[in-house]
Amino acid sequence: MASRKKYVGGNWKMNLNKAEAVALAKDLATKVDDAAPCEVAICPPFVYLDAISQALCEAGNKTIKLGAQDFWTAGNGAYTGEISLDMLKDVGVSVVLTGHSERRHVIGETDVLINEKNLKALEAGMEVIFCIGEKLEQREAGQTDAINAAQMSYGLAGVTAEQMKNVVVAYEPVWAIGTGKTATPEDAQKAHKAIREHLTSMFSKEVADGVRIQYGGSMKPSNAGELMGQADIDGGLIGGAALKADDFMGIINAAK
Ligand code: PEP
Repeated sequence: MASRKKYVGGNWKMNLNKAEAVALAKDLATKVDDAAPCEVAICPPFVYLDAISQALCEAGNKTIKLGAQDFWTAGNGAYTGEISLDMLKDVGVSVVLTGHSERRHVIGETDVLINEKNLKALEAGMEVIFCIGEKLEQREAGQTDAINAAQMSYGLAGVTAEQMKNVVVAYEPVWAIGTGKTATPEDAQKAHKAIREHLTSMFSKEVADGVRIQYGGSMKPSNAGELMGQADIDGGLIGGAALKADDFMGIINAAK
């Protein structure tokens, strides 16, 4: 089995003001260094990316990767309100989130758009944290693995085996996001194993064994160790608990 370095990402969503966001990034930069047990990324709101990029640089950060929560697929041009991959790169962003359940189910992004985003981001050399996961009624109907498989088949269509080195899959059961309800480590492991099997069928065992699969959904310091101790859980994508340095560090330090 491939040895996969664990990876913890913080999705700050639409939270914090500029001073709070910069202070949190600076605080993390003093605490996360090369000795961190996992890779780390933070995904602040767009408007704070530049200031945070500068703050991380001033703090001598070489470890924390800067991520964006979204982007538009076209190059710079007439797309009112949107942000291009070139703009993100210009301010030091190297990671993007795609397929997050809030963008799928609140904003209305389709599998077609998510696939286009994955392809464009990978072409641009970005690392992609590609989120998938089932809703509560789908889980109750026993459709978890089928939903995850379908979201991967659509979302990763056209992605090459080589590009998969820059893809991280985040399994985020929708019913667990921001609700305080977490999948049990056993249930999460079962879903992650099925995700890896589907990646094997889409690409190869070698590719699937190399892909980090994060769990997301109310992960916190108290449950992170047990979740990330499962064979196919390679880290976490963290919402609420990424907004406090101590909580986020607790999760990072649990990623042994
Ligand atoms: C998320 O939004 O990706 C997430 C996992 O949120 P939370 O940790 O708050 O459930």
